[in-house]
Amino acid sequence: MANEERTGGCLCGAVRFKARLTGTNFGVCHCAMCRKWTGSALLGVTVPVDNVAWTGEDHIARRQTSTWAERAWCRDCGSGLFFRITRPGPLCGTLELPIGILDDADGLTLTNEIYIDEKPDSYAFAGEERNILTRAECHARFPVLAGADGP
Ligand SMILES: [Zn+2]
Ligand SMILES: [Zn+2]
Repeated sequence: MANEERTGGCLCGAVRFKARLTGTNFGVCHCAMCRKWTGSALLGVTVPVDNVAWTGEDHIARRQTSTWAERAWCRDCGSGLFFRITRPGPLCGTLELPIGILDDADGLTLTNEIYIDEKPDSYAFAGEERNILTRAECHARFPVLAGADGP
């Protein structure tokens, strides 16, 4: 399953992509910014920026949403397209692609939840066989977040 290619795109079809996944794991981010951006939690698969080939790139709008990352969406239909780490360092350029914009999101496994302490009590994902981190635990685990003003 590793290195498999998946296609996807936004709601209106102006933006399409092919992504070469490096694995089949995905994570959930419950942070307030991801919830505002997606309208729910971000269910995302991590992909190196060079593994994604876009078409319709001129329809992509981006916004630097914190000192270390930007979020992007289709300027025509509003679909969230990616979260990208912009702060220099080993993770720079890494994308989180929302699994909802994959044409086929079957066969992926939820392996981590982050910013669990920002999750509203109105929902929860089933099962506990995964890494579950609070904001403080995330910031301790990932040096890129040191001093960041937001997720
Ligand atoms: Zn669109
Ligand atoms: Zn988040």
